[in-house]
Amino acid sequence: MGPADVLQAVAREVNNCTCCQLYHSRKHAVPGEGPANAEILLIGEGPGFHENEQGLPFVGAAGKLLDDLLKMAGLKRENVFITNVVKCRPPGNRDPLPDELAACSVYLERQIEAINPLVIVTLGRYSMARYIPDAKISVAHGKPRWVNGRLIVPMYHPAAALHQMSLMKDVEKDFSHLMEWVQQAKQAQAGKHPKPAAAAPEAEEAHGDEAATQLSLF
Ligand code: URA
Ligand code: SF4
Repeated sequence: MGPADVLQAVAREVNNCTCCQLYHSRKHAVPGEGPANAEILLIGEGPGFHENEQGLPFVGAAGKLLDDLLKMAGLKRENVFITNVVKCRPPGNRDPLPDELAACSVYLERQIEAINPLVIVTLGRYSMARYIPDAKISVAHGKPRWVNGRLIVPMYHPAAALHQMSLMKDVEKDFSHLMEWVQQAKQAQAGKHPKPAAAAPEAEEAHGDEAATQLSLF
């Protein structure tokens, strides 16, 4: 099975999934969308009202902002893959619960493996916590890190910027660097620019993950 087949299989399974309680209240599951060979994978939190209606990720107000931010970064939405940590809408847009995140994680894992993106952008706390569990988003946003061989860029969730306009400048700034980080990841992959060595002992303690090393270039 090639990557596109894997993504299709995951989407079919997600659409029929009953692995956590969120299936009861969903109208449409939202597996995610984008090309199987996307260089950038964006991971949000979970479907909201409009996503649940349409079965597509980021089609509400936060989605409009995300489209603008991608454009600003020189990217087209149709060239990135967009998904969420939970594929079904939590009722009333509440936060996803630990057992829901755990149940849904297998789908995201398979998507990541199939796409094998150069850069993973986490949007908001829940997707960031998959990679950097103890980080504070106010500190970690816009700072790429290698985690288990992947370049992870934590960013604020676009909805956070809509609720708190003071964050908008930071959000725009972080997105404006996105293509530089893609280049960085490309160079690392080509071996021209070796990935940073394991973190210093203090950093290991601070982050609890020896593979999580902040890039020093930015
Ligand atoms: N917010 C998210 O986290 N994901 C979506 O798909 C839409 C809004
Ligand atoms: Fe299945 Fe994920 Fe939907 Fe829960 S949120 S029912 S695990 S697809």
